[in-house]
Amino acid sequence: MADRLRRHPWKVTSVGDEADSICPRCKEETIHRVVAMVESKIHLVICTRCNSQHRYRPSLAAMRKKTPLPSERQARVLKKLEESKTPPPKEPLRVWENFREILAEVKPLPYDPSEEYKEHQAVDHPTFGLGFVRRVIDASKVEIVFEREVKVLVMNRPRSGQE
Ligand SMILES: [Zn+2]
Repeated sequence: MADRLRRHPWKVTSVGDEADSICPRCKEETIHRVVAMVESKIHLVICTRCNSQHRYRPSLAAMRKKTPLPSERQARVLKKLEESKTPPPKEPLRVWENFREILAEVKPLPYDPSEEYKEHQAVDHPTFGLGFVRRVIDASKVEIVFEREVKVLVMNRPRSGQE
């Protein structure tokens, strides 16, 4: 039964079928048996491992694999999970704050790819805001720490029509 559902996620489930669900007692995804349906949706399930009965909690695998298009609610949950996996930009922020403290008196220069920048200069970028040159990579690239991210930007680019 579970195999049939896996291959054909659009087939209608009915009471007595097996369904993967998160079990609040086992605290993981286990095989459940459907106990009650509401409007063709699984409502109550019973865990085949610990026999506890609870509301159906679609597993992540089920949300990803079995639903051709996630419902709006599932999409929101998935989005939240994706976002929570992205680490907050702590490193650039901390470095940026240090720079800002140390270089409080330095007047930021407007960012211009044709200019040359030196280490520890403050730069004002139209998109990324206030940044500080952490490293000169080579004659044409600088690493700049902005509040939200570290960027490698172009410098010393010949102005058009100059060469
Ligand atoms: Zn269980």
